[in-house]
Amino acid sequence: MPNQVHDNICRLQEDIAVESRLYRRKAKEINLIAVSKKQPLEKVETALRAGHRIFGENRIQDARNRWEKLKQDYPDTELHFIGPLQTNKVREAVALFDFIHTVDRPKLAAALKEETQKQNRHPACLIQVNTGEEKQKHGVSPEDLPGLLNYCCKACRLDIKGLMCIPPLEDPPSMHFALLAKLAARHGLEELSMGMSNDYDKAIALGATYIRVGTALFGNRIRPPG
Ligand SMILES: *Cc1c(COP(=O)(O)O)cnc(C)c1O
Repeated sequence: MPNQVHDNICRLQEDIAVESRLYRRKAKEINLIAVSKKQPLEKVETALRAGHRIFGENRIQDARNRWEKLKQDYPDTELHFIGPLQTNKVREAVALFDFIHTVDRPKLAAALKEETQKQNRHPACLIQVNTGEEKQKHGVSPEDLPGLLNYCCKACRLDIKGLMCIPPLEDPPSMHFALLAKLAARHGLEELSMGMSNDYDKAIALGATYIRVGTALFGNRIRPPG
């Protein structure tokens, strides 16, 4: 089974190369985030031994349990936080993660400002946009994006690199990817975190620079042992 992980990584990288040629993009600007949430440690270690170094997690506690140790063994690992972030977890998020994809409200930006200054650690940040304007969903509305972006950059001095979205399940994802790309271009932001196992090809077509792939790389999720 873990061998399958190695094959999947190779297959995904080949796929990225093919898609990038098709859409006249450079393969090296498309980064594969291996989403290791709820995956067995054994598979994550297989990916690390295969040389993969970019991983995504969506819960602070799970990520700490696993990565505090793994990051010592593989110090060049780049960790991406892709889940909803509560302000009381910001301290741990800043300490552990290199990228935070889910900045979506002023209160969180202010908490990140305080912690990045306190720890003198400055993870790259992306703003999560609720492109479907779904109620009860995370992400800033497209309408409120300019204000939040300004607040993050000017008042909080966060290193905002780009935008992230999770399209509503019932919609064709491409319209959301296209909207996110348009918003990023309008604000001169380079990074686009979009596309998962089922739709990363469409995201690459529309400009994704970070695709977040879990099940297509590791197989179905379980609870991690630790
Ligand atoms: C779990 C998760 C993914 C990966 O989903 P797959 O369908 O398994 O590829 C990507 N992005 C976010 C935000 C996630 O929570």
